[in-house]
Amino acid sequence: MRLCVNFVPLREIFCMAQVTPIKFEINAQQGEARAGVLTTRRGQIETPVFMPVGTAGTVKGIRFEELETELDARIILGNTYHLWLRPGIDVIKSAGGLHRFISWNRALLTDSGGFQVWSLGALRKISEEGTEFRSHVDGSLRFLSPEVSMEVQAALGSDIVMVFDECAPGEASHEETERSMNLTARWAKRSKEAFNRLQSEGADTGRVAAEGLSGTQALFGIVQGAGHLDLRRTSLEQTVNIGFDGYAIGGLSVGEEKSVMFEVIEDIAPRMPKDAPRYLMGVGTPEDLVEAVARGIDMFDCVLPTRNGRTGQAFTSRGKLNIKNAQFTNDTRPLDESCGCSVCRRHSRAYLRHLFMTGEMLASILLTHHNLAFFLDTMRGVRQSIRSGDFPKFRREFTERLKANGE
Ligand SMILES: [Zn+2]
Repeated sequence: MRLCVNFVPLREIFCMAQVTPIKFEINAQQGEARAGVLTTRRGQIETPVFMPVGTAGTVKGIRFEELETELDARIILGNTYHLWLRPGIDVIKSAGGLHRFISWNRALLTDSGGFQVWSLGALRKISEEGTEFRSHVDGSLRFLSPEVSMEVQAALGSDIVMVFDECAPGEASHEETERSMNLTARWAKRSKEAFNRLQSEGADTGRVAAEGLSGTQALFGIVQGAGHLDLRRTSLEQTVNIGFDGYAIGGLSVGEEKSVMFEVIEDIAPRMPKDAPRYLMGVGTPEDLVEAVARGIDMFDCVLPTRNGRTGQAFTSRGKLNIKNAQFTNDTRPLDESCGCSVCRRHSRAYLRHLFMTGEMLASILLTHHNLAFFLDTMRGVRQSIRSGDFPKFRREFTERLKANGE
């Protein structure tokens, strides 16, 4: 936010208006479920939103044209860890940032690399300063810290940047989680300081002029604390005290019971700032999304639709189905009879099964397309139902249909 003193010349009075990297407006609410619009420097995103994951500068198995036109994805994710290791920051910088490198003009959110590094397990060593780890690409020793992560994300030029955090394992003790949560808070503060410095130095390669918006990157904080509600609340307080443009719940869906995950969301989401977007990281199945929206979440990302699409699993309105099963050999129906995507309009289960059984690359492409369409359509339905006041009915019918099971 830029502040102006009172005695400025008249022509500069425009900067008296509040200028922020993002704008977030809630249009409708039912219970804790919210429907709104998140405006970034690269366009508007209706929330609740599902963000397809573009790990290494690609949403695996789908072309950008399809993401834009048929699926109308307004925002996708990029992974700092993967892009930093390959192709490396110099390549992306010389291309003019990640948007230009991959030719995607809509919004991009990048994670901090913290979760990927954490997932390396024994291959990493965490200290106050940051995390040392061996690259999974070439085995070289690398070091990631709040400062390095902010530097990489500025070079990528994403529109939403995530703070560098540490994730405690789902089954971590209270003591271990508390230590990790406090480290996350200190890293969040360092992330914000480094982020502000980089913005003022003009390091953000994704700078664009945006009407009413600052054109700078937005920075989101992350609430940790595993399954311990008291620590989750403390972490939220610590994060809000530092102050961010949006707030995420991290460290869920990492091996804890599903009931624990929903307990945390139900307790924490309604306590998060009401005027900022709330992002649940790395979750989940279509039913998880609907249930988390009911508890107050606005943004999601998950690899499930793309990753499972590549192995033959389709998400449908009547539950999951594995297209490789013999029962689909002569099944002339589409993957999901109530899906309007181009795959369901054109191809049968029998044909898709044949593609998988013969190892054709089109198999993964078509299933990925349908799965993403199903996730994005589900969120479209969620938004419409919140706006029309029918969300409880949508939620009930959605859940009942899923139980009918597609197989
Ligand atoms: Zn479909």
